[in-house]
Amino acid sequence: MDNEDIAEAALPQKLRADIERAAELLRRGGLVAFPTETVYGLGADASSDAAVARIFEAKGRPQFNPLIVHVANMAAAEALGCFSKAARALANALWPGALTLVVNRTPQCPVSALASAGLATLALRVPAHPVARALLTTVDLPVAAPSANRSGTISPTLAAHVRTSLGDRVDFVVDGGACPIGLESTIVDCTGDAPVILRFGGIGRARLEEVLGTPVKFRDVDGDPTAPGQLSSHYAPRARLRLNVHEVLDGEALLGFGPDLPPHQGPALNLSEAGDLLEAAANLFAHLHALDAAGVSGIAAMPVPAEGLGEAINDRLVRAAAPRNA
Ligand code: AMP
Ligand code: MG
Repeated sequence: MDNEDIAEAALPQKLRADIERAAELLRRGGLVAFPTETVYGLGADASSDAAVARIFEAKGRPQFNPLIVHVANMAAAEALGCFSKAARALANALWPGALTLVVNRTPQCPVSALASAGLATLALRVPAHPVARALLTTVDLPVAAPSANRSGTISPTLAAHVRTSLGDRVDFVVDGGACPIGLESTIVDCTGDAPVILRFGGIGRARLEEVLGTPVKFRDVDGDPTAPGQLSSHYAPRARLRLNVHEVLDGEALLGFGPDLPPHQGPALNLSEAGDLLEAAANLFAHLHALDAAGVSGIAAMPVPAEGLGEAINDRLVRAAAPRNA
């Protein structure tokens, strides 16, 4: 038994019951806030497009940024991501802890494309907080969890912060007291030749360098790899994407929205026949990938209203339509 197991076993009865309830809500696609050693996370089943779409809706962020996927242990992490030698060394030394590793997805990775904003990579973390660990072990699912606050507000380090910021947008808050670190996790990209820090956080550069035995550089992506010019080509389909289309051209596939589709002959997928933005967000990346894989020369995307989640959907569509290698 390691220290974390001892701490888990010592959780009070009320907290254990709350963790059971939270796990059940997560299994049903709900949103649950829970404490980690860094900040409170807003968790959802990372393998469900619909559950992940609810995270973006609740946070009210006008963009889909890739989320950190939390798992209980290294074995669960290895089912989702491919670990280089350096990634493994960092995980072995610093997990569980305030460290997030960006790795390539495994071929069978069940995590929603929306959770990593359509990237081929995945940000993974095994948190150390006993409540987070108990929840992840109990639910036995990968849990996508950004900070549990409305976009543009301060990260929550108390359950009360979560309730104030999100109100009834969150189904349940597991109150585990104050987060001991109160600062986000350090993010290290392990997909290149040498690991690179993407964000400074709970674990310092010196500690990473000690583990790896080499200097570790920082790559400034303004904390947002989806920023224009950053990794934008990763988001673009091969096929040319036309936006706000009412008429489909020869050779184009149709990415529809709403009940009324224009005449079309090629492949067509509807983001949401009911015109529901939550459903559209959940389908966005999977539909783009599927139409692109159909080998069409172009994709005609119908207009999506720029309200609520529609803002983030349009942001993503505009980037996907932008010239390559920007
Ligand atoms: P947080 O807001 O604490 O959940 O952290 C999310 C941040 O993790 C994103 O804004 C990115 O900076 C980073 N991130 C998540 N997934 C990836 C990824 N696949 N590649 C690069 N950075 C990522
Ligand atoms: Mg945040």
